[in-house]
Amino acid sequence: LHAEGPLAPGIELALTPAQAHHIGHVLRRAPGAALLAFNATDGEFAAELTALRKDRGAMRLGERLRAPAPEPELRALVAALKREAMDWAVEKATELGATRIQPVLTRRCVAAHSNTERLSAIARAAAEQCERLSLPAVAEARPLHAVLDAWDGAPLLVAAERREAQPIHDILERLTAPCGFLVGPEGGFERAELDDLARRPFVSLATLGPRILRAETALVAGLGAISLALDA
Ligand code: SAM
Repeated sequence: LHAEGPLAPGIELALTPAQAHHIGHVLRRAPGAALLAFNATDGEFAAELTALRKDRGAMRLGERLRAPAPEPELRALVAALKREAMDWAVEKATELGATRIQPVLTRRCVAAHSNTERLSAIARAAAEQCERLSLPAVAEARPLHAVLDAWDGAPLLVAAERREAQPIHDILERLTAPCGFLVGPEGGFERAELDDLARRPFVSLATLGPRILRAETALVAGLGAISLALDA
């Protein structure tokens, strides 16, 4: 379970209502059950469920099992997608080590916003499932040009079709963190957007191969390759 710190052996912590619900109603655990509690600053601790009633509960921490480990900064940027695809993309980006998830509004986006609260809850559940200590920051959706104008100059790989892009593995050889990976909407980027992207000195257009992938597939394929290259 992801828990706000500071964490230390012996302390008792309240569960969030969502955690209490999950432990009681989905996992069907009772007081005395073994749990794990973690966060990015303090690491991971053994824990025991000490109380559980409806959507409230508590756990007591035992010994520390894992120290916090540094993670390469990998920013996932994805055009706002339909709800189901976006939920899936956030879950997978979390599993693949994205440290920030930025929904982006482009001209052909079908969604005009994203539900940051729901996406943050999905990221939290995914981090718990994959035993990742940290949670990615899920940002509010922002227009593409605003994201690019505020970009700090870190390398940004943009998933694009093969005609105008280089194979992603050629870029990965020299890639270092912090870096970002941007995927367009189901309808693709518009010509003007691609031209704007290509003009930015920090952008490399990257192809993932000859097939046209769904946006969420492209996100997962690219983040998988990048996280392996960065050892994330
Ligand atoms: N009809 C759109 C077009 O022609 O651009 C297809 C867009 S695709 C469904 C959605 C997004 O996934 C694209 O904007 C791109 O960012 C990414 N993508 C899909 N296949 C890709 C590939 N083979 N290489 C790189 N990016 C890809």
